[in-house]
Amino acid sequence: SLRKPDRETIAAIATAPGRGGIGVVRVSGSGLADFATALTGRPPVPRQARLAKFLDAQGRPIDAGLLLFFAGPHSYTGEDVIELQGHGGPVVMRLLLARCLELGARLARPGEFTERAFLNDKMDLAQAEAVADLIDADTVAAARSALRSLDGAFSRRVHEWRDQLVDLRMLVEATLDFPEEEIDFLKAARAFERLDKLRDDLDKLLSRAKQGSLLRSGLHVVLAGQPNVGKSSLLNQLSGEDRAIVTDLAGTTRDVLRETIQVEGIPLHIIDTAGLRETSDQIEKIGIERTWKEIERADVILRLVDARSGIGSADHEIDSRLPSGVPVIWVFNKIDLCAQAVERRDGEQGLEIFLSAATGQGLDLLRQELLKLAGWEAQGEEVFLARERHLEALREALTAIGNAIQRAHEEALELMAEELRIAQEAVNRITGEFGADDLLGVIFSRFCIGK
Ligand code: GDP
Ligand code: ZN
Repeated sequence: SLRKPDRETIAAIATAPGRGGIGVVRVSGSGLADFATALTGRPPVPRQARLAKFLDAQGRPIDAGLLLFFAGPHSYTGEDVIELQGHGGPVVMRLLLARCLELGARLARPGEFTERAFLNDKMDLAQAEAVADLIDADTVAAARSALRSLDGAFSRRVHEWRDQLVDLRMLVEATLDFPEEEIDFLKAARAFERLDKLRDDLDKLLSRAKQGSLLRSGLHVVLAGQPNVGKSSLLNQLSGEDRAIVTDLAGTTRDVLRETIQVEGIPLHIIDTAGLRETSDQIEKIGIERTWKEIERADVILRLVDARSGIGSADHEIDSRLPSGVPVIWVFNKIDLCAQAVERRDGEQGLEIFLSAATGQGLDLLRQELLKLAGWEAQGEEVFLARERHLEALREALTAIGNAIQRAHEEALELMAEELRIAQEAVNRITGEFGADDLLGVIFSRFCIGK
């Protein structure tokens, strides 16, 4: 069961800290018409912007600005909401907020306005999260897809699957009482086809959602290779800045350097690492240990090799330590020094790209491969900005549906029904229909104050 919104009036400065043309104090609660009257000396009119003086307890003006009044339930939170648009200076904003507290409001927690919107059924959990994602979006692509989630496109899809699952569960559970003809009954209702289709649909949704998650969090790309093969140069070339230190001395990059670049609106976190080699230098040793930690966490490893010498014996040592699950792109660098053309090859050890970090030739080829590895298909497909929490739930649902199909083949219908129930619960968690209190607390506490 969900927490009920408390009746307390909450208030917060909703605009970013600092000076601005206007600043907004937002208030939500019940009976706010009186609150507004006390604040401005006149009763408010719902949904009308009113020029007003905001008054302190003695009736002296603190600021003049616009007062907006939204009577619940027709508001963002579903309660009465007041927005005071004043002059955007930090002192004015603090005085206005203090006045609201004096009038009985308490300070809102981060995300509490949106939390109330969720608790009052103004939006579901996936939409509420999309509010935060829209605010946090670093790229246009991420903002667009957050907006799609916010207007409910993602939630609608999730609800469709849930309805399917409910249907199938009812069907399977209804047959349990008729052991003789249960399988025939399910066949007649096309239950198995529907289950297969559901699995395919979820599979597709999951891959789209993965892209959405990628849009927000980006792909972790680690540059790994012997000293001096050109890792720092490649990082610089990809980021378009002289960020890493490039020298002829082996062992220059002693620590881990990061750079976030965007390719097709997707953030790529490029991590340049200390060259991997045996060393007695203590500081370099620490750098190398960190490198291995980064490599274990990578989404993609760019394995750099000098194109002139190719893969040597010291490389084999590195490769024996590479984690097996992480995809690797072999980058043969410095082709400008050996008359090798830009090329993409399916080589012995996997994908190979021949390029030059110094001249930039072949860099586009590498960017494309990174996007491909990220599972990115730019063409027209709607991308949802799903969170890791959503992906987990979708994966869980998919596993349960796979199990249900397996149980169906075994004609173990009770167990099939149980798997369908697990799948439905997992799907429900996305939109918050089964949201546990602690889960909600975690989600909303990550919002900024005033949202
Ligand atoms: P790291 O130790 O792997 O990070 O290698 P650096 O990026 O520091 O490069 C080592 C040296 O190789 C520097 O002198 C670079 O200028 C040079 N270098 C790197 N990439 C290329 C390339 O594609 N072509 C040429 N000609 N030189 C390169
Ligand atoms: Zn380096």
